[in-house]
Amino acid sequence: MAKRKKKEKRKKRSTAEAAKRRAETHKTGFANTAFEIPEGVTSFALKSEKAARLDIIPYKVGDGNTFADPGMLYYERTYFIHRNIGVDSTAYVCLAKTCGEKCPICEYRSKLTKDPDADEDLIKDLAPKERQLFNVIDTKERSKGVQVFEISHHLFGRKLDYEIKNSDEDDNYENFANLDNGFTLKLGVEECHSGKASWFEVVSVNFKPRKEDYDEDILENTTCLDDILIIKDYDELKEIFLQTTDDDDDEDEKKSKKKDKKKKGKGKKKEEVEDDDDDDEDEDEDEDEDEDDDDDEDDEDEDEDEDDEDEDEDEDEDDDEEVKKKSKSKKEKKDKGKKKDKKGKDKKSKKGKKNKCPGGGTFGEDTDNLPECTDCPKWEDCEDTEE
Ligand SMILES: [Zn+2]
Repeated sequence: MAKRKKKEKRKKRSTAEAAKRRAETHKTGFANTAFEIPEGVTSFALKSEKAARLDIIPYKVGDGNTFADPGMLYYERTYFIHRNIGVDSTAYVCLAKTCGEKCPICEYRSKLTKDPDADEDLIKDLAPKERQLFNVIDTKERSKGVQVFEISHHLFGRKLDYEIKNSDEDDNYENFANLDNGFTLKLGVEECHSGKASWFEVVSVNFKPRKEDYDEDILENTTCLDDILIIKDYDELKEIFLQTTDDDDDEDEKKSKKKDKKKKGKGKKKEEVEDDDDDDEDEDEDEDEDEDDDDDEDDEDEDEDEDDEDEDEDEDEDDDEEVKKKSKSKKEKKDKGKKKDKKGKDKKSKKGKKNKCPGGGTFGEDTDNLPECTDCPKWEDCEDTEE
């Protein structure tokens, strides 16, 4: 019993650490490969089924926005990504659908569609997915200022478009983002699940007249959403993409290369496809969530990530795997330890707290804080001491 508890505890801690690590390095899921949120700006994400109330703030459009000319005030940036690309299995902006240029991934996919033996799942998985960026104020957390909200079009924007299209003329919903006489959007949110993945989808959008207008100064706090997309050039994207597509030609080689990663990369077959399925429609936001993970990390990361963000999910999975591996090696160590105990029990108990941390940290305090902890023969004692 006690042992089990300990194990669970450890797992939790490791997951939290992994989440934190990820949050530090990845910020918001594929945020650092498809877009980059400026320093000092936070990102908003749907994190529960509680209704969200958002004021979408327009920004001065930069280059490349399909729906608005540079300099105009507009409220969103639509773009497309290819998911699970490269050894890191992350997402990259699709050059064809986003910029109207040649896209190596679309070209490859197009070839596949003509090949009768091609993997249908792969074709589906490689399809560009539509996403959107917004500047928003969470009316429940105004102190966070204008935040960047990135989400699959299918999980939110589609619903927003629908409500506007179906409104009456005198509703004036299309002016929802205006600084004057705008509307606060009340988003009804539902959590969706598919396999291990879960994500939040906006299922209803209500328009409520804002109680106060925004001053023009607020525009200075918005992010130019067109400027934050990370658009690779053709050759660079091709190179990244080929890092994972070579498996298509050579299965064995694929196996010999990073196995785990591969599974998640283009080589993915069934497992992955599961999320992708959702992706098509969903995608969640996990990504964003990650960012916020800083705060919530622990509990959520398993689900949060999910989906569409498969990416996140993938990462989470990675983390889980890592955790599993660690616990396994710990277990082995434990078993070994037990055997030793029988012989050298006294020794061990005498040593007690005098133990030194082989990784150079403080024994009993730095448990799991060092890279060496993964394979540390003293891990269990260290953990015990810590408690
Ligand atoms: Zn593309």
